[in-house]
Amino acid sequence: MAADTTMSAEAAVGVEPALLVDPQARVIDYLRVSVTDRCNYGCSYCIPHDGVEHADRADVLSFEEIAALVRVFVSLGVRRVRLTGGEPTVRRDLAALVRMLRAIPGLAEIALSSNGHLLAELAAPLRAAGVDRLNISLDSLDAERFRRITRRGDLGRVLAGIEAARAAGFASIKLNTVAIRGFNDDELDRICAWAWERDLLPRFIEEMPMADGRAYVPGAQLAAAEIRRRIAAAWPGTSVVADAPNAVRGAGPARYFRLAPDETGAPVRRFGVISPMTEHFCTTCNRLRLSTAGALHACLAHDDAVDLRGPLREGGADAVTSAIRTALAGKRPGHTFQLLGLGGPRKAMVQIGG
Ligand code: SAM
Repeated sequence: MAADTTMSAEAAVGVEPALLVDPQARVIDYLRVSVTDRCNYGCSYCIPHDGVEHADRADVLSFEEIAALVRVFVSLGVRRVRLTGGEPTVRRDLAALVRMLRAIPGLAEIALSSNGHLLAELAAPLRAAGVDRLNISLDSLDAERFRRITRRGDLGRVLAGIEAARAAGFASIKLNTVAIRGFNDDELDRICAWAWERDLLPRFIEEMPMADGRAYVPGAQLAAAEIRRRIAAAWPGTSVVADAPNAVRGAGPARYFRLAPDETGAPVRRFGVISPMTEHFCTTCNRLRLSTAGALHACLAHDDAVDLRGPLREGGADAVTSAIRTALAGKRPGHTFQLLGLGGPRKAMVQIGG
């Protein structure tokens, strides 16, 4: 039989074919990796009062195991990894993991999400190890409020961490604020102005009812439209205009806006809104999430997951690939946060990989 010499359209133009495509034809090229399910803060919208169950120590993936799994994901087309948790900086010697990931050919970008508490010490070593981008949570610029929402957070330390991060030379630093009515809804403009003065990109997140709604106060949700309205109202004479979808690198689920008209000679006053509740973005989802114990979650809003730890420990790369494909085949079309108490996720973000 003659050899098949036909070439796919992608090969003909030199573009790699997408290897991880889900049943909705969404291409997966981004993996969030939880390096610990523990956190040094206890944000009230994230950790329920009665706490969360943590993975057994024996089940926590070692750095070598995380790197081995990431190598398989990269062979399947993943190009960007974000280290998260829990609070990733509480995992001892995180920079060593970053160096191991940096050595994986084909991995284009390593990002990190942090609450900033340990960044005064760790920002420079993490940057030197190879972290490209940083997201830092910042829910208030008021020290007392900050302590209250984080249960034990120290705003002074976080601001020092942000300064250290600015000095360390990351490609971008984004600030993530969960917008909560009656808590920080009077601070959105102050957070924007503070971020813009420091060349940081502020982003506001709608609160999600994770953990069976045990940490969720329904009336406290601030919708994306309200977030935009409040920011525009703080600068009379401006309006909020939507940026092009590719205006910001690594945009993920955030949609970006800026105040118009621009001020002559001043930087663009841009902010992001992540609106899983009122303007959800499931059709553009490009991600999978690996938990601390090696469970692969195809969606933050569903508890179901496929174990990669067993296949890795017992089978190796082929067994892992097959488990990844099983998870991908089960990736749901969208979230079910509207089903609070009726099938929304029982797990908190720290258990899945925020
Ligand atoms: N500790 C790291 C941090 O602070 O970025 C990484 C993990 S944390 C779970 C990731 C992000 O999820 C934080 O910005 C946090 O504010 C946000 N988050 C946690 N629970 C949330 C919820 N119920 N709704 C919306 N955002 C939430």
